[in-house]
Amino acid sequence: MTENRLLQSFKYCPNCAAPALTIHDERKLVCNNCSFTYFHNISAAAAAIIEHDSKILITVRGHEPQAGMLDLPGGFADPGETIEAALKREIHEELNLEIPNLRYFTSEPNIYVYKDIPYYVIDSVFTCRCDDLEKMKLSDEIAAVKFLKPGDIPLDKIAFDSIRNAIRRYIDTLK
Ligand SMILES: [Zn+2]
Repeated sequence: MTENRLLQSFKYCPNCAAPALTIHDERKLVCNNCSFTYFHNISAAAAAIIEHDSKILITVRGHEPQAGMLDLPGGFADPGETIEAALKREIHEELNLEIPNLRYFTSEPNIYVYKDIPYYVIDSVFTCRCDDLEKMKLSDEIAAVKFLKPGDIPLDKIAFDSIRNAIRRYIDTLK
């Protein structure tokens, strides 16, 4: 198991301020002074393989981390949200598209590094068709979109291992 650098960056108990924290099993921080316990669980995220005309929609990231690299549209789930609702909301925010017919495809673990801190994430990847692209409008999170035949996607330019693995698996299903 890799060390949890996020939890290591906490020096003092958020409850009693004692410098007495112990990390248990990578996800749990316990204060030895007041027994305050903090669970840092895996974040849930979703991504979409949007199919159009035998091609899929690939985004160029507009923001850090990995600005300029390729990605699928999607993002993190908010508290209380289903993963499907999170994905529909993110695609509406990022691309102004509606994606009614989501089909679950696969999940892949990811490490999302933001300002040098790694966050452990599980990405759920869905496929969907989108025939009507007229309303598409990019948010500033997205620098550009490309429609690529799956075999033409430059996998070495994909921002995250989880998304690269999911696209590779998707390409395998087409063979
Ligand atoms: Zn404490």
